[in-house]
Amino acid sequence: MNKKVTYLIVGQGLAGTWLSYYLSQQGISFVIINSASQASASKVASGVINPVTGRRMVQTWIIEEVLPFSVSAYTSMQDLLNTKIIQEAPVFLIHPSKQMKESFEYRLQHDNVYLQEMDENISTSNFNTPFGTGFIDSCYWIDLNEMLLKWKFFQTQAENYIVDDFQLKDAIITHENVTWKNIVADKIIFCDGINAFNNPYFNALPFAPNKGEALIVQVKNLPPQFIYKSTITLVPWKDDLFWVGSNYEWDFDHVNPSESFKQKMIEALDQLLTIPYEIKDHLVGVRPANKERRPFVGYHPIQKNVGILNGLGTKGCSLAPYFAAQFIANDIFNKPIHPEACLSRFKELLSKN
Ligand SMILES: Cc1cc2nc3c(=O)[nH]c(=O)nc-3n(C[C@H](O)[C@H](O)[C@H](O)COP(=O)(O)OP(=O)(O)OC[C@H]3O[C@@H](n4cnc5c(N)ncnc54)[C@H](O)[C@@H]3O)c2cc1C
Repeated sequence: MNKKVTYLIVGQGLAGTWLSYYLSQQGISFVIINSASQASASKVASGVINPVTGRRMVQTWIIEEVLPFSVSAYTSMQDLLNTKIIQEAPVFLIHPSKQMKESFEYRLQHDNVYLQEMDENISTSNFNTPFGTGFIDSCYWIDLNEMLLKWKFFQTQAENYIVDDFQLKDAIITHENVTWKNIVADKIIFCDGINAFNNPYFNALPFAPNKGEALIVQVKNLPPQFIYKSTITLVPWKDDLFWVGSNYEWDFDHVNPSESFKQKMIEALDQLLTIPYEIKDHLVGVRPANKERRPFVGYHPIQKNVGILNGLGTKGCSLAPYFAAQFIANDIFNKPIHPEACLSRFKELLSKN
């Protein structure tokens, strides 16, 4: 017998998790199909929300709205899942050069919201700090693997979750509904990360995949309440393990871990740390980034029951809850989607397909 739902969601990374969360909040039916074999950027991400970006240490896009929204969203998700997933973790800056120290000092005096001088009571002895230190406030660490796993468990229990590889050839999509195997849905939303680049409905979008790697490193006695940032970033992972990364590769011919990345991290760690460390693992992922650095949120202009939530790039942790909420509020209450993220900006381009 067919199962009828309102939404079919393809993919359970950050995008699919948050989209289904807001549907469940509204009591709207859905099924998530998530593949066990396809890549997931969310599983290898460090899970950091940092309101400041780049060499000039400016605020990230619409962070004044996105930050309080996402902190509140992860706190509600944490309460629902009854497990710790969000932790405030200030960034402990170890300036990697004279220029970065000057950049920090300049920003401290001009349009500063989040930067602070280092607290004198905090020890810097675990690091070589020839150019000094600083602090970024209002940063958070999200335990993404815990959240993804628990949400999957909850939705499996509720019979809203299928582990399978969704293939378009197995689906019948009409303007009325979408049939996939024994499920009939009113709408289908693709939250399938880099896999969307091959989706004929959306492959005209200006995707620009970006490969990133990380090491998982054991560093005993390094306080886990901070994120440490220099030329590399050390993010508390689990117990005395730290996520160490990353790189941003726009041009790559394979998605395997690379020896050159590992060697670069070892050099940087040797220079940065005054205490021993041990490498435990090497992770790799591809960020579903795009040339505009803005998300893709909404429905195909012609096939109006086929939607997408993607293009979260390097900022999935903060952007996913915010834009998943906008997607659903638009769908149900006709509220606007941020014009820089709304898919309607590609109406002409996607209408050619
Ligand atoms: C090394 C690295 C570090 C990062 N660090 C951060 C960070 O600190 N902070 C931050 O905000 N962002 C970070 N990011 C970016 C962040 O990971 C992404 O923005 C985010 O995870 C994208 O989420 P998504 O749900 O769109 O895609 P994904 O997480 O890739 O999820 C896609 C899901 O779809 C499933 N899927 C794909 N195809 C199919 C199919 N055919 N059928 C069924 N299921 C399918 C996959 O299995 C997967 O579960 C990092 C990324 C990388 C690679």
